[in-house]
Amino acid sequence: MNDHVDLHLHSVHSDGVLAPAALVELLAAAGVRLFALTDHDTVAGLAAAATAASARGLVHVAGIELSAAWQGRSVHVVGLGIDPDAAALGRSITALGELRRGRAHAIAERLERAGLPGRQVLERLAGPVAPTRTHFARELASLGAVADVQSAFTRYLARGRPAHVSVEWPSLEATVGVIRAAGGAAVLAHPLRYTLSAGQRRRLVQEFRVAGGAALEVVTGGAAPAQIEAALGLALRAGLEGSVGSDCHDPALPWHRPDRLAKLPEAVAPVWNRWDRASRRALEA
Ligand code: AMP
Ligand code: MN
Ligand code: MN
Ligand code: MN
Repeated sequence: MNDHVDLHLHSVHSDGVLAPAALVELLAAAGVRLFALTDHDTVAGLAAAATAASARGLVHVAGIELSAAWQGRSVHVVGLGIDPDAAALGRSITALGELRRGRAHAIAERLERAGLPGRQVLERLAGPVAPTRTHFARELASLGAVADVQSAFTRYLARGRPAHVSVEWPSLEATVGVIRAAGGAAVLAHPLRYTLSAGQRRRLVQEFRVAGGAALEVVTGGAAPAQIEAALGLALRAGLEGSVGSDCHDPALPWHRPDRLAKLPEAVAPVWNRWDRASRRALEA
């Protein structure tokens, strides 16, 4: 039994494969009742998600997954309950989109140097969606330049590989500040996925808390029980609330399916209580 909650999801407005309405259908079938669409550095899918959610009777929390930098590494901060029209958030989204498009050109060049069709991929990525590395990986795989998406990362796009281009994302502090200025709660996404020592990870979580972060993603898609325990320990130690998110990009990849999420351990307060209670009051009124 899970919490019927999923606060980390992607759509075609970033690197997910489903349109928001199709994602809502998947969530409804999986028994999810409260969810957040959290596309990378964009709120473009939120209006469609909200419309589909109300048609289906699901509670939709407006979300985003912002790219940030901590100690020269990229980390992800999910913003929940944001006002998608907040001015500061809009400026950040514009700046992040420019960073992504600039990086896409640099990635394309590096792919060319490695003998891969970088320019062709870049042309295929023209359009309103700010390109992520996932987009590059999928296009390389569909052109037959790599065996599959995973090997595009491990051979070319991952940190330390020939087509990896590091970006100076905005700082962790600034990113948390933007989310709060937009009325949202900041959640540090998939805290165990960053390559850090145990001490560095505790420092990251502590600095996130000091910056005004609200919660840690304690249950993330595909996490083993020991990882959930470790994330729980980090949240409790820092006095953060807990969140649950599948990080589902593609329902064909079973380990990130929203219906496979574990329950949030009871020792930590759920970050979603604030929206859940409000929606229940609205239903009762
Ligand atoms: P970007 O924000 O453009 O650097 O792309 C990051 C996205 O790439 C993440 O949100 C994941 O969806 C995906 N990603 C990162 N590393 C991997 C990997 N090793 N295998 C598959 N997908 C990955
Ligand atoms: Mn992604
Ligand atoms: Mn992420
Ligand atoms: Mn994500």
